[in-house]
Amino acid sequence: MTTKTTYLSEIQTGGEAIVTKVLGHGAFRKRITEMGFVKGKKVRVIKNAPLQDPVEYEIMGYNVSLRRSEAELVEVITEEEAINISCADFQGVIDEETLKISAIEKGKVINIALVGNPNCGKTTLFNHASGSHERVGNYGGVTVDAKEATLKKDGYLFRIVDLPGTYSITEYSPEELFVRTHIMDKMPDIIVNVIDASNLERNLFLTTQLIDMNVKVVIALNMYDELENKSVRFDYNAFGEMVGIPVIPTVAKNGKGINELFDKLVEVYEDRDPNVRHIHINYGEMIEKAIRSIQTEIWKSPKIRDKVSSRYVALKLLETDKTTLNLLRKFDNFEQIKSVAEQAIVKLEKEYAEKSETIITDAKYGFIDGALKETYTVLKPDKLKSKRDFDAILTHRFWGFPIFFFFMWFMFQATFTLGSFPMDWIDAGVNALSGWVSSIMPYGPLRDLLVDGIIGGVGGVIIFLPNILILFFFISLMEDTGYMARASFIMDKLMHKIGLHGKSFIPLVMGFGCNVPAIMATRTLDNRKDRILTMVITPFMSCSARLPVYVLLISAVFLQNQGLVLFSIYLIGILLAIITALILKKVAFSKKEVPFVMELPPYRIPTLRNTTLHMWYKGQQYLRKMGSVILIASVLIWALGYFPREIDYSTDYDARMALIEADMQLTSEQKAENVNILQIDKESERQEKSYIGQMGHAIEPVMQPLGFDWKMGVSIISGLAAKEIVVSTMSVLYQADTQNESSESLQNKLKEQKHHRGSRIGEQVYTPLVSFGFMLFILIYFPCVAVIAAIKKEANWGWAVFTMVYTTGIAWLVAFAVYQIGSLVG
Ligand code: GDP
Ligand code: MG
Repeated sequence: MTTKTTYLSEIQTGGEAIVTKVLGHGAFRKRITEMGFVKGKKVRVIKNAPLQDPVEYEIMGYNVSLRRSEAELVEVITEEEAINISCADFQGVIDEETLKISAIEKGKVINIALVGNPNCGKTTLFNHASGSHERVGNYGGVTVDAKEATLKKDGYLFRIVDLPGTYSITEYSPEELFVRTHIMDKMPDIIVNVIDASNLERNLFLTTQLIDMNVKVVIALNMYDELENKSVRFDYNAFGEMVGIPVIPTVAKNGKGINELFDKLVEVYEDRDPNVRHIHINYGEMIEKAIRSIQTEIWKSPKIRDKVSSRYVALKLLETDKTTLNLLRKFDNFEQIKSVAEQAIVKLEKEYAEKSETIITDAKYGFIDGALKETYTVLKPDKLKSKRDFDAILTHRFWGFPIFFFFMWFMFQATFTLGSFPMDWIDAGVNALSGWVSSIMPYGPLRDLLVDGIIGGVGGVIIFLPNILILFFFISLMEDTGYMARASFIMDKLMHKIGLHGKSFIPLVMGFGCNVPAIMATRTLDNRKDRILTMVITPFMSCSARLPVYVLLISAVFLQNQGLVLFSIYLIGILLAIITALILKKVAFSKKEVPFVMELPPYRIPTLRNTTLHMWYKGQQYLRKMGSVILIASVLIWALGYFPREIDYSTDYDARMALIEADMQLTSEQKAENVNILQIDKESERQEKSYIGQMGHAIEPVMQPLGFDWKMGVSIISGLAAKEIVVSTMSVLYQADTQNESSESLQNKLKEQKHHRGSRIGEQVYTPLVSFGFMLFILIYFPCVAVIAAIKKEANWGWAVFTMVYTTGIAWLVAFAVYQIGSLVG
C-alpha cells in the first residue's frame, strides 16, 4: 500500500487525476464540493504553469479555476498510482471504472489525531486500538514526539497519531504548538478528543478550542468507569447533541467502547451522523462585535480562509496570539488586519478592565458551565463552594422563579419611580423652551412649526428618555452581573413549551424597554428559527413608548383598579406572544429543534462605568430613532394637521364672534366665554377638514366597529411612525384650543369628548370599554417603522411584511371583540 499522497496542485497541464479526498475545513470544503470536487470524480488540468494562480481545471464537463492554495487541499490519485494499487501486474490500458474504484479505495484512508489533556488516556487508547499488529513509528519533533500507527477496520485504513497531551491549544509550550501545527498543517480527517470523564470541566476547555477551529471532532469520553463510580449522572448524548460533537464513552484501560468509537469515526467520516454540526460559542456581544470587525478585514484576503476558519483566526488575534499574527504576515492586508485587531483589543480591555485573553477564557468556561448544567447532575452533592451556593439558589428549579419575578417587579417599579423625577425636569425644560421660542418669534407658520411641531412633538417623546435609560440600565446590570444568563436558564423549560429557547428570553425582556434593541439582541440566538420566532413575538412585549398612552387613558377614564388595568394590558400582550409562538411553531417551524448550549458566564461585580456604557449602547439606538423617525414624523403630523389653511367653514365663525362682541347685553366675561367656545369650534372644524382630519375620516368606516372616532383613527395612523407620537398627536388634536391658555389637562379633554355625528351622537367617546379597546389596539398593532426596519434587516422583507399585517389584523380583531362583546354584556 502506497502512502505517498498526491495533491491536485501537483498535476501538470494536460494531466488527469481522480479526486480522493478534500481536506480543509467547513466553508472551504462545502464550496469546493459544490463545485464538483468529490471523491471519485475525474479532473483534467487545463492550464497549470508554475507561477500561475489560479489554476484552470475541467471537472464534470465544466471549467473551473482554483487558487493554488485550494488545489493543495485536494488529494488525488493519478492513473499510474491507480495501476500500482489495484493491479500491479496489469498490462493493458486501465479503464476509467478501475480508476474510480482505486480512487475510492484510496479515499478509504482516515487520518485520526488523538488530542487531549495529559493523562486522560490517549496513549492507552492508542495502544489498545492499534494493538501490536501494526507499525508504530515516531514523528521527529525537536522536543516532542508523536507516535503514529495504522490499523485496518471495516474496509478502512485508519492512520492514528497520538499527539502530546495539552490543556490548551495555544502557543505557550512546544507541545501546544506541536498539536496546533499538526491540526492545521496535516489536517487530520477527524480529531478524537480524549476526555477524562472524571474531570469534565477542565478537559472540555480544550474541546472549546477545537470547536473554534471548526474541525471534525469525536469525543472519546474516557475513564468512563470512574464516572460511573461517582454518584453523578452525565447525559453525554444530550451533551453531544448540544455541542454538535458525538460522544462515545470508553474505558481505554480495558478496551471498552473502542469498537463503538471506531464505528462512530466511520459514520462521521462518511457524513452520516446527523448530529454533527459546527457551532459557534457565543462570546458575548462585545467580543462577537470584535470578531466580526476582524473577520471583515480577513475576508479581503480569501486565501486566509482556505485552511482555517476566519472566526478562529479572529479569535486568536484577539487572544494576541503571535503565531497566528506571523502566519498572516504574508498577506497584502496584514497591516490592516493587525490594526483592526489591535483597536478591538484596546476597546475590549478598556471595557472589561481585563486582558482580552482572560475575557475569552471566561466565556469558554461559561459555555462549559452552561452545557454541563443541563446535562451533568451530582446525585449526592458534597460541600459546595460559596459561589456555588449562591448560584444554586438563583437557578433553583423552584426558588429561582419568585426571585426572578421579584427582580423584574423591582426593575419596572424602579424604572417608573426613579424616572418620574427627571421626567418632571424635562417637562419643565420643554415648556420653558417652547415658551421662550413663542415669546421671541413673530406669529406665523414657522413659529407654529417650531413650537407645536418640533418642540411639542419631540419634547413629548424625550420625556420618556429617563425611563428608557433606567430600564436599560437595569437590563445591562443584570447582563453584566451574569444574572440574566441564569434567568434565561430557569426560563428555558417554560420557553421550550412555546417552541422557544431560554436565550430568547433576554430579547423579550428588553422588548419592554424598546423593541428595536430587542430585535437586534436576537443575534445571540444561534439558530434562525429561534431568531425569527423571537423577532415576530417581540412586538407584543409592550415597549415603553406605549406606556404614555395607557397612563393617559387609564388616568382619564378608569377611576378604580388602575394598576390592574395596566397590568392586564401587559399580560394580554404576553399572552398573544405565547399564542403566536405556539401557532407559528405548528405552522411554520415544525422541524425538530436542535439543542444548544446556554452559556453561563461567571458572576461578576460590574463597575458603574461598564454598566452605564452598556446602557448607553442600547439607549443610542433609541436616541437615533428619536432624532430621525420621530422628528420627521412629528413635523409631518403637525403639517398634515396645519394645512390646508384656507377651508370652507360650515358657518361664518368670525361674523358670529363679531356679533357677540357687539352685543350690549353681555358682560365682558360672558363675551370672552362665548368667543372662546366659538374659537374652539372653529379650530376643531379646521382640524377636521385638515389633511390629517381627512385621513381620519377616510378610515372611519374601519374604526367605527371598534367604537373609535376619527381622532382616534388619526392617532393610530400617526403611531405608525412611533408609538410615542400617539400621545403627542392626541395632545395636538385635543388641545388645539390651548392658545387661550386654558390649563385644562388632556385627561379632562378626553373625558369631555362627545360624538359629533353618527348613531352615538352626543354620547361620550372615551367610555371605559372603548378606552380599553383602544389601549389594546395601541399595544398590538403595527409596532413602529423602526421595528419593521429592524426585522427587515435581521430577517427579511417577508417577515417584516408578515409582522405588519399580522399585528394590525390581530389588533383590529381584539379591539372589535372587546367593543362588540363588551357592548352586548354592558
Ligand atoms: P495520556 O497521558 O493521555 O497518554 O494518558 P495515558 O494513556 O498515559 O494514561 C494515564 C493513566 O490513566 C494510565 O495509568 C492509564 O492506565 C489510566 N487510564 C487510561 N484509560 C483509563 C480508563 O478508561 N479508566 C481508568 N480508570 N484508567 C485509565
Ligand atoms: Mg501519552
